[in-house]
Amino acid sequence: MDKRIEKLMKIYGWYEGIARALIDSNGYCVFCGENLVETRLGYSSIVMDHLLPKSKYPDLEYEFHNHILSCSSCNGMKGNFDPLHEGEEAKSMLQNRQEIIDRCKHYLSKSIRDRKEEWLEIKDLLNDS
Ligand SMILES: [Zn+2]
Repeated sequence: MDKRIEKLMKIYGWYEGIARALIDSNGYCVFCGENLVETRLGYSSIVMDHLLPKSKYPDLEYEFHNHILSCSSCNGMKGNFDPLHEGEEAKSMLQNRQEIIDRCKHYLSKSIRDRKEEWLEIKDLLNDS
């Protein structure tokens, strides 16, 4: 096991799934690409997302391949989105995670764009006075 994963678990008490996800993505939200370790707020928004929602795939809740690093914003917008197509088998699809990640990114792309636009507008609004 990666020494950094061990350290996150032993010293900081992280659950192995999120520790692995953090190291795998090097601290970036897999969906929006935001660096989550650069700022305190980014760090505070780190969550472990279940690529295949645990509501629909409860047997994959503790499957490491189903865990991914996300910011709380993307995680909230993703909700219970199921990226699988009719007839696809969940466990075998998790072996090709990039395909699943891409489907989730596609699903989230408009929401992420809209949210960013709103954020920039609010910033402008506050600078207008
Ligand atoms: Zn994100």
